[in-house]
Amino acid sequence: MCTVHIARIVHMTHRTSTPARHLPTLTLVNLAPITRTHVLAALAEFDRLGRAAFLAAYGFAEARQYFVHHEGRYYDSKAVVGAAYGHATGRPLTADEFSGGRQTVARLLESLGFTVTDGTGPTRDLVQALTSLRVQPTDAGPARHQPIVVLWAMGRAVRGRARLVRWSEARVELRGLLREYGRDGARPSAEYPLLALARHDFWEMSGYAGERPAAHGEPRGWMDAQDPRGGLAAWAAEAVQVSPATRDGVTALLGARFFDGAVPEELLRDVGLGPVSTALGAQPPSPVEEYVRRCAAIRAAERAGHHERRRIDVREARVRSSASVQAVLLRSGGRCENPACAGQPDDVTRDGAPLLEVDHVDDHAAGGRDHPAAMVALCPNCHAVKTRGRGGERLREVLRAEARERHVAWYPGDEAVSG
Ligand SMILES: [Zn+2]
Repeated sequence: MCTVHIARIVHMTHRTSTPARHLPTLTLVNLAPITRTHVLAALAEFDRLGRAAFLAAYGFAEARQYFVHHEGRYYDSKAVVGAAYGHATGRPLTADEFSGGRQTVARLLESLGFTVTDGTGPTRDLVQALTSLRVQPTDAGPARHQPIVVLWAMGRAVRGRARLVRWSEARVELRGLLREYGRDGARPSAEYPLLALARHDFWEMSGYAGERPAAHGEPRGWMDAQDPRGGLAAWAAEAVQVSPATRDGVTALLGARFFDGAVPEELLRDVGLGPVSTALGAQPPSPVEEYVRRCAAIRAAERAGHHERRRIDVREARVRSSASVQAVLLRSGGRCENPACAGQPDDVTRDGAPLLEVDHVDDHAAGGRDHPAAMVALCPNCHAVKTRGRGGERLREVLRAEARERHVAWYPGDEAVSG
C-alpha cells in the first residue's frame, strides 16, 4: 500500500502536462477584468478561511498541478482566479465556467507578477525535501530522530495544535518518542533533529536572537537560553492538514526510508496521526466548513422550492428552518451579532446553550428572506431593542449590513448573495 502512494506522487511529479480536456460547451470567459489587487484579495481570503473552506466556498477541487506560490505559501491557482474574478466583477466564476492550466490561469497569474509552480506544489516540495533529508548513519541504519520529529509535527498539524512550539515544551513532548522509537543507543535529545530540520524550507525556527548553532557539538545550552520556537513551515503544515494524500505520501516515504518499510502504527498513534487512511475523515468539519455546507443545503432547498418565503410566524420559522438557525448560531460563535451590543447576559440556557435568539433582520412574515445572510443571532437585550425599542428601525439597518457582511466573510463564494 505504501509503495502505491509513493508511486502516485512520483507519477504526478513527473507529469509535465495534463491531457487537454475538450469541453465544447465551455464558454470562453474573458479574465481581463482581474488585476493583481483582485488576486491579492483572493489570496488573503484563502489565508483567512484556510484551504479546505476556501475551496468549499467557491466550489473548486484541490489543484493537482498549478499552484500560486506567494510569500512562502501555495494556493490552488484555478480557485484563486475564480475568486479573484468575483472581486473584480461581483460574481465569482465556478470551476465549470473556465478551464485551468497553463494557457489560461497560469498565464494570467504570471502576467500579474505572480509565481506559478508547475507540479504538485506543497506535496511535491515536501516529498522532495524529505527524500533528500540527510541524517546520521548508524550501525543499525539511518538515525530516526529527524523523521520522528517530522511525524510529531505532522500529528500536531492534523489535530489543529499550535504549529510552532517552544523548545522547553517540544523537548518534553519529544523525549519519550525519541527514546521509544529512535535507534537503540541513540540519545533521546531533541536539540539535534530540531536544529538539523531548521536548515530546510519546510521547517521553521524562530524567536531567537543572533546566530543559530549547527546541529552538532553542544547546542543544548543555546537552546535552553534562547528557547526558540520550531515546527513545520505554514505551507507544509497546511498541506499535511488538508490533504490526506500528502500525509499518506509523506508517511509512506518516511516509513520506507527510515523504518524498514513502514512507520510503526504505535508511533503514528502516539503522535496523533492514527490509522493513515482515516485520520482526516475522523476530523469534525471546521465551523466555516459546516456553515458553508448548511448554506449550500439551504440554497438547494430554495431552488427545489422547499424553502420558499411562506408567510409564517417568526417563532414558527425558528422551529421550522433549523438549517438557517443552526448556521447563524455557528457563525455567531455564541456571541450577540449586534456590533453595538452593550453586553449580553453572562449566563447560558438551562441546556448550556448561549442566551441568543436567531432573528430575521426583516420580518420573515413580511417577506424577509429565511437565509443566514438575512438573519442575525441576538442577545435578549438587543432583540428587545430591535422588536420593541424606539431605536429598532435604526438597529435593523445596522443588522442588515452586519448579517450580510458576516455571511460573505464566512462564505465568500456564495452565488446566492453576490452580484
Ligand atoms: Zn446584544
